[in-house]
Amino acid sequence: MNKTQQDDLLTRACDGATLSVSEGIEIMQHAGLPDLMAAAHHVRMKWHPHNRVTWIIDRNVNISNVCHAGCLFCNFSCSRSAEAAFVTNMDAYREKVSELFAMGGNQLLLQGGLHPDLGLAFYVDLFRSLKEAFPALRLHALGPPEVVHLANLEGIAVEEVLDHLIDAGLDSLPGAGAEILSDRVRQMLSPGKCNTHEWLQVMYHAHQKRVVTSSTMMFGHLETLEERLQHLVLLRELQEQKPDDAVGFISFIPWTFQDTHTALAKRHGVVNSVTALEYIRFFAVARLMLNNIANLQPSWLTVGVPTAQICLHGGGNDFGSVMIEEHVVSSAGAKHSMDKDGIQQAIRMAGFLPVRRDQHFNLMEDPSPTE
Ligand code: SF4
Repeated sequence: MNKTQQDDLLTRACDGATLSVSEGIEIMQHAGLPDLMAAAHHVRMKWHPHNRVTWIIDRNVNISNVCHAGCLFCNFSCSRSAEAAFVTNMDAYREKVSELFAMGGNQLLLQGGLHPDLGLAFYVDLFRSLKEAFPALRLHALGPPEVVHLANLEGIAVEEVLDHLIDAGLDSLPGAGAEILSDRVRQMLSPGKCNTHEWLQVMYHAHQKRVVTSSTMMFGHLETLEERLQHLVLLRELQEQKPDDAVGFISFIPWTFQDTHTALAKRHGVVNSVTALEYIRFFAVARLMLNNIANLQPSWLTVGVPTAQICLHGGGNDFGSVMIEEHVVSSAGAKHSMDKDGIQQAIRMAGFLPVRRDQHFNLMEDPSPTE
């Protein structure tokens, strides 16, 4: 493809066209970086025609570290008989949620893993107890692999699992466990987790039930460029199937494989292959490919603050969360951290106005009248 054809492609993307996998590969490999970022920023400004970048205060709590999924990139999980095995108790939740409210946040990101003994009743009781103790708490909890795991444990459909969880207080579903939506990759990377179809089916049913979800991608390990682009197309196609009055995927967050001490690195010699430049390019391509998802968030936790700040000029409009007590990615080498002052300062230094949001991207403070 010559320069004129590439420019046509970027112009079409700016106009909202639906790009194919091969067109995505073409701009990823050959478009000039300034052209790519300018196009992604143009699309961002069509979705969000202002200088604001949103952020949120929420808190991660791990329900347990017992998991039998066997993901080769995870240093966090262990067997139920391991000395380090834990299941978080209600006293700990009370303390952690009280701290969250004291910091001004109200969203709890509850992540579990595939515990072989904890069935649906455990999660229903947990969600109910949390909502009874803290009625204002918002639960951004579990993810498609856990929902599929519970359906298998209970011998019921994922729709039924979702109904029980929603009834017990689930507010939104994280896009966890997507990694790369390719069964070739998933079978090597996460042999005990749900497959691509199952992951997408959980999100499909969540959207049908008007549950807002996020979408993610973890890349830089075993996948090809084509599989990265195919992942984006699968998300976009699922989003096309959501009911008109549903939000569906409210955001997309691509993050890079953290390799430190992981089985993938130690046993197979696979290390994170994504440079800062490649991340910035891919982020911009994602903004152009995902023409039906409103919000894109660079992962400063995994790529570092400077790279994420540059992404705000190439398609990004959200800077995510202060990530209180994140363990899974951090235990594999993600060293970056920011408190609420730091996250706002990082947004300002990138040239944008920080505005705090809730989990549905509603603004929680008045934007400055001078923006
Ligand atoms: S990443 Fe999650 S699902 Fe995979 S082994 Fe770790 S805790 Fe289990």
